[in-house]
Amino acid sequence: MKGSKKGKIEVIVLAAGASVRMGHQKLLKKLGGQTIIRRAVRTALAGQIGPVRVVVGCDAARISEELADLPVSLTENSRWREGQGTSVACGVNALADCEAVILMAADQPFLRPEHLRRLKEVYEEEFLAAEERRRRGEPREDCPPMVSSVKGLRGNPVLFPASYFDELKKLEGEQGARQLFSRYPVREVDQGEERLFLDVDTPEAFARAKAEWMLCGGFREAFPLLCKEEENAPFGSWAYLDSAATSQIADEVLAGMQAYERNFRANVHRGLYPLAERSDSLYEEARETAAAFFGVRPENTIFTHGATESLNLAIQGWGTANLKKGDLVLIDTGNHHANMVPWQILEKRMRIRLAFLPLTETGRLDRDAWCERLKQGPKAVSLTHVSNVTGREEDIRSLAAEAHEAGAVVIADCAQSAGHMPLSFSELDVDFAAVSAHKMYGPFGIGLLYAAPEVIGRMEPVFGGGGMIERVTTEGVRYAKGSARFEAGTPNVTGAVGFAAACRFVEEIGPENIRLHGRELCRMAEEELSRVEGVRLVGGRLSEDGGRCSLISFYLEGVHPHDAAAALAERGICVRAGHHCAMPLHEALGIPASIRVSFGVYSGREEVKRLVEGVKAAKEEFG
Ligand code: PMP
Repeated sequence: MKGSKKGKIEVIVLAAGASVRMGHQKLLKKLGGQTIIRRAVRTALAGQIGPVRVVVGCDAARISEELADLPVSLTENSRWREGQGTSVACGVNALADCEAVILMAADQPFLRPEHLRRLKEVYEEEFLAAEERRRRGEPREDCPPMVSSVKGLRGNPVLFPASYFDELKKLEGEQGARQLFSRYPVREVDQGEERLFLDVDTPEAFARAKAEWMLCGGFREAFPLLCKEEENAPFGSWAYLDSAATSQIADEVLAGMQAYERNFRANVHRGLYPLAERSDSLYEEARETAAAFFGVRPENTIFTHGATESLNLAIQGWGTANLKKGDLVLIDTGNHHANMVPWQILEKRMRIRLAFLPLTETGRLDRDAWCERLKQGPKAVSLTHVSNVTGREEDIRSLAAEAHEAGAVVIADCAQSAGHMPLSFSELDVDFAAVSAHKMYGPFGIGLLYAAPEVIGRMEPVFGGGGMIERVTTEGVRYAKGSARFEAGTPNVTGAVGFAAACRFVEEIGPENIRLHGRELCRMAEEELSRVEGVRLVGGRLSEDGGRCSLISFYLEGVHPHDAAAALAERGICVRAGHHCAMPLHEALGIPASIRVSFGVYSGREEVKRLVEGVKAAKEEFG
């Protein structure tokens, strides 16, 4: 910097208190793929202002560990309980020779390197102006402290020239450096962005910041594929809007699977050596994690290859052992083929009777028809929790209660609700529930079937082989008990480990936060798409009717969905076009095919905008 002798500005990240004081470990909580403290320190480093010092106090050991690989100095404030003043004093005392310091709180997740650079820029302008005044012999006016401001609000980060260091070193109490702003003239630096001041100080503030973070697409950073600029593509990165088919896999899920493969790979349920025993326990721990995530017990949790296998296992395993010719089964016409075709196979084989439940024009179950059908004494009902076409959520809990009242077993396809909302199979009180891990940030090739205590003992195995038996002789076989009975052969152990990691990933973000996020994006998409002439939403506008769970389908009048999807693809927008394995639903609603847009934790407002622009362009092109 011209005119400066020392030319150095240091950054102090204040991370000493609050975690405990505010009753939650805010700095060690994650947002996106990294902890709040790590994000703050990486922002400070990315600003390339100068050396970065972190003042730690509460949680000092864990925070130091969290930052161990980053090129920063740590200063421990033993008086952190007395308030931020002591932390500022402590940090400034530790500064080497420098001409100014930027102080930043560690708990403002929307702080970006540009904000720090802006402070530095304004400081440099002010500094040069002060030098110029001095050169001209004008009355000397020192460079003032700088405070970030947005629309009249003032806050972090702040910058102090060295002339204020002595005062900063004397600070005490809760207020921190803010105390000086009432004593001296201050230069406000407009940072232009209100959310800069969103912090995570209390659990409520954390929830608000997280919701905004998600709408900004902040979780994309936990998914490397979505951060990549596509080579030679004019659109930059993907707008991935096909999460209902398969979500992207979270980086930490991949890391967990790789760690398992590298350190513990061995077959399960067979080896007596320690490696195999460890693998065994990891597999069973994964089952416990997944079971707890879905509010049920491990012995009722059967690992499968995915929702399709889960549904086939429930329908064949329970159906063949408990149904006979002429028995009635009710099927939601909105079901995915995976919750329909296995019944049709059984219909052929066993001559059971299937009745498809009619839908309302918004694609919901017609409750009147449902009540009528229940009176006919069905033995089973097969339902969908969240439709993979309309995104509507069905009230499975009350449907299950009514079905049980009528004496029917309840099979629920939860493939589209898992990972998108709080989900407890025991609260829904269903007999069977099916999910896939690859739709909830986990790996392909693993899912689970929940089979309630009342039904699991009445199921016949569908697959025979190793691992599912207690004893085999040439005379006959005695099956293993519990879930093992249905897991013949070597299971997908790595997948199970990844599935458990995915459950933890979702839990960390909070299923309720994810539900609100998905709903909000659907509401925005509904609103924006409804304004485009010729767009028809499958199921109509559901915002007023409980909303959509993370996905929405539509078609453009006069444009084939495949053409529209191809036009979107050219713009890097990944959507699904067709019947989405739900032909009877499309038929019932009188539509040949549709375009489905589905969101994940990484989706944000930006993608909705890109989508709507793409749809308008497709309309121009083909309409
Ligand atoms: N049910 C629903 C509602 C689905 O959306 C899907 C996936 N499209 C499935 C079942 C089948 O899941 P998987 O392909 O993972 O077996």
